[in-house]
Amino acid sequence: MISGSLSSISRDKFSKIDCFTKIVSTLGPASSDKEVIKDLALAGADVFRLNFSHGDICSHERNVKYIREISQEIGKDLGILADMQGPKLRIGSFKGGSIFLSSGSKFRLDMKEEEGDTSRVNLPHKEIFSVMYKGMPLLLNDGKIRLKVLEYGSDYADVEVEVGGELSDHKGVNVPGVSLPLSSLTEKDLKDLELALDFGVDWIGLSFVQRPEDVEQARLIIKDRAWIISKIEKPSAIDSLEKIIELSDGIMVARGDLGVELPIEQVPVLQKKIVYSCRQAGKPVIVATQMLESMINNPTPTRAEASDVATAVLDGADAVMLSGETAVGKYPVEAVRTMDKVIRNVESIPMYNDIISLYQGKDAFFEKRGLLKIEEAITFSAREVSRNLPGASAIVTYTESGSTSLRAAKERPCLPILSITPYLKVSRRMSLVWGVISRRVEDPLHTFDDIGKTAIKSVKEAGISREGDKIIITAGIPFSHKGNTNTLYITVVD
Ligand code: PEP
Repeated sequence: MISGSLSSISRDKFSKIDCFTKIVSTLGPASSDKEVIKDLALAGADVFRLNFSHGDICSHERNVKYIREISQEIGKDLGILADMQGPKLRIGSFKGGSIFLSSGSKFRLDMKEEEGDTSRVNLPHKEIFSVMYKGMPLLLNDGKIRLKVLEYGSDYADVEVEVGGELSDHKGVNVPGVSLPLSSLTEKDLKDLELALDFGVDWIGLSFVQRPEDVEQARLIIKDRAWIISKIEKPSAIDSLEKIIELSDGIMVARGDLGVELPIEQVPVLQKKIVYSCRQAGKPVIVATQMLESMINNPTPTRAEASDVATAVLDGADAVMLSGETAVGKYPVEAVRTMDKVIRNVESIPMYNDIISLYQGKDAFFEKRGLLKIEEAITFSAREVSRNLPGASAIVTYTESGSTSLRAAKERPCLPILSITPYLKVSRRMSLVWGVISRRVEDPLHTFDDIGKTAIKSVKEAGISREGDKIIITAGIPFSHKGNTNTLYITVVD
């Protein structure tokens, strides 16, 4: 168990540099100027999310260019997540733009392309009709309107309006509890995906993943051009959670649609389950949506929102995300600054490391993962050393694929992880990973001596360590072999 004083020494040092928990900031009309994006980065954003459900390709391309320039200017490898729209289901339009659906009334959804009225509207998704059954619930407009199927055919459904309300053009449709015969990549996504990969984004977000095959299909297309974040927002994804995590490079708890597809009271528990499962698997996990929602219109958040961010940090999530707050809100930079302050405050409490370690209480963790492999033994030992070696100020990982650094982060040590890599794309991917500060070297390192010297230079440059501090280095020898972490080495900074 870490002593209080050791913990606070390391936190003080780290807090001048960066937080363990990363911030993802969504770009949009409120954050399309280079100056605003730079201010977001300076306020603490580590990864920028380009939402391909909105915005045009030119604005996404321009934002990528700005982010790369800003990275150079501020000396930090920022990450870019291109979030695909996925098979978002929507109704058609209405004569006059909207209608009011009264509770208890009857309504029809069909494949006719004409504009709708209070008796019917277009639902241009044959896949929904193909899985229909009597009594099936359908949710419209983020779950605000609830329908129940009474009768249906291959191209229509007569429904009862259980909960009514205002309904306007192109509102979203959710079909809770049903796995639809749809790929998570639509034709639009396939085009967007190639463009995003050409722009050189680091992470691709897959929306409405329903089954492991969705991730496999995306992997065949994306290959190693980017890492894949699967968004968990469908109940069927929860059923195959472990497999989806295994096949993905990271996960997003997409609480917006998850809270429509499933009863809202299940979301907090599912959030914990997903974060826990990702941590067990050593895969980065983002908690997303409505974290500081009221800051879209106000300069300060509600107490409950601040508490929501703190809870995700104490669960040990790799990252917390802002959506509308930074994309369309009135206070984008303040939102990032607020999130950063909440994270810093939580991470500075003496109990922080103990609380996040509850998830991996030694016995539970061992029981679940069984006997250690060599690479796990090394990183687990690095964590133990980081907690008990007085004067230790950093864990340094040398990585060519990212896996040594990911493994170090999985252990949630109490010291910052300085990840050294010769590869720009690996360095950028690390922007999302808990506790990792990434530094690049020009060329691959070939000897242990090189790693030691580079590690000392890097921790001093990053301001994490000073002369006399001890640093804990993990690496794989021989070098250039993917994922073979087998060496733990402690040296003193000179
Ligand atoms: C969500 O549903 O929470 C989410 C992040 O997805 P999107 O914003 O793309 O709807």
